[in-house]
Amino acid sequence: MSETGPRLRIAPSPTGEPHVGTAYTALFNYLFAKKTGGTFILRIEDTDATRSTPEFEEKVLEALKWCGLEWAEGPDVGGPYGPYRQSDRKDIYKPFVDKLVENGHAFHCFCTPERLELMRAGQRAEGKAPKYDGLCMHLKAEEVKARIDAGEPHVVRMKVPTEGSCKFTDGVYGDVEIPWDAVDMQVLLKADGMPTYHMANVVDDHLMKITHVARGEEWLASVPKHILIYQYLGLEPPTFFHLPLMKNPDRTKLSKRKNPTSISYYSALGYLPEALMNFLGLFFIQISEGEEMMDMDELIAKFDTDNLNKSGAVFDTQKLDWLNGRWLREKLSEDDFILRVARWAAENERMKKGLTLSQSRISKLGELPSLMGFLLQSDLVPAEAAFAGIKKTNPEEILDILRTVQPALEKLVEWNMDNVEACLRQVADDMGKKLRTVVAPLFVAMSGTSRSLPLFDSMEILGRAVVRQRLKVAEQVVAGMVAASAEK
Ligand code: GLU
Repeated sequence: MSETGPRLRIAPSPTGEPHVGTAYTALFNYLFAKKTGGTFILRIEDTDATRSTPEFEEKVLEALKWCGLEWAEGPDVGGPYGPYRQSDRKDIYKPFVDKLVENGHAFHCFCTPERLELMRAGQRAEGKAPKYDGLCMHLKAEEVKARIDAGEPHVVRMKVPTEGSCKFTDGVYGDVEIPWDAVDMQVLLKADGMPTYHMANVVDDHLMKITHVARGEEWLASVPKHILIYQYLGLEPPTFFHLPLMKNPDRTKLSKRKNPTSISYYSALGYLPEALMNFLGLFFIQISEGEEMMDMDELIAKFDTDNLNKSGAVFDTQKLDWLNGRWLREKLSEDDFILRVARWAAENERMKKGLTLSQSRISKLGELPSLMGFLLQSDLVPAEAAFAGIKKTNPEEILDILRTVQPALEKLVEWNMDNVEACLRQVADDMGKKLRTVVAPLFVAMSGTSRSLPLFDSMEILGRAVVRQRLKVAEQVVAGMVAASAEK
């Protein structure tokens, strides 16, 4: 690996299930690094302490490893510019923030959340975009010192030019111009002493010697803030590439409400990582029809930043299925295929846990496929009859239950059997129903039948992403029943 080559990073925030968008961005950075003899790095951006969790961090590492995107430096493997987790770097940022304040590029702000809210409401009422009004920018140094000494909560904000615009060249968007007027006086250091994303991101990209920053298009509007911080610190900004966001086939922003977006959903259902990388990699290269099947080496060979398409990467699951099928049929030897299936079934100990739960419930092994098959099955769609068979609960009520359970489960920070159970008990309480009534439709939603393995264990084994999709499918089935009965 060359010491002087390009250095690129993927910088996920561990605040949710690892998203296919992260794999897409990581793949771009990986291909870029491999193509240019550079280095691919993983950095965990967990400055948002309220939303980041160790469980999600572990999951994102696991998911990117599953994708085959190996990093040369990262929180698990170390490297010359560590630590690679921002919460472990807290002390590193302070001197940079201090320098900005000393040089008059940033200031302490004592405005309370209440004042800021009032200010924003006023701006909105006038039809203006909410933005800090600069009140604390003009405080005298003695007053600032006295208030800090008195322990008054405060943040540090950056100053922003009032006139002109920020011009830069983006590797995907070309020449971009954003008026300074549209840029807020960003908070750089929070009241708890943690830097914000913007501050930590710039300092880390500098210290980790990142040469090219490739990330989602949603960060394009933040570039002026970042460029300004680089300039204030007397540093050279990296080259930016803002990748078009992935979209649903209807061209709306890819969202888990329409399409499963968790990497773990695709691994659980038996997509091959090679096929997923192949599918995502096609967004970054130009090929002719018939050339779609490509492994990582071929993607690297064809990778060219001039070939990006700006119109957006459509996450077309039919195309992914088609590619995955071809990978299974054409690229795996018989032995490799068998090995892959075994590895897939063992993932997250699904097979082991399923068997453990089944042992006391069978009289012969041949009953296993029908008892625990649902743990491995893809595209499970329960029959209407299975919902109709639920005693004492009509389809309207079932629909209500399914619709109430979904947002409640989304709020779970840690996904395990105990939390799932506690959540469903709470839902039952809130709805004034017995737990039995709430879980009956969930049995059907998860397994397609009303008698199967214990529900809470099964939901833990299936995992958040698969459970989400099954509930969505169940909701569609039951909504269809309700609509049909209304027509009668
Ligand atoms: N932590 C940011 C994210 O989750 C990274 C953005 C960047 O790469 O600068 O998307």
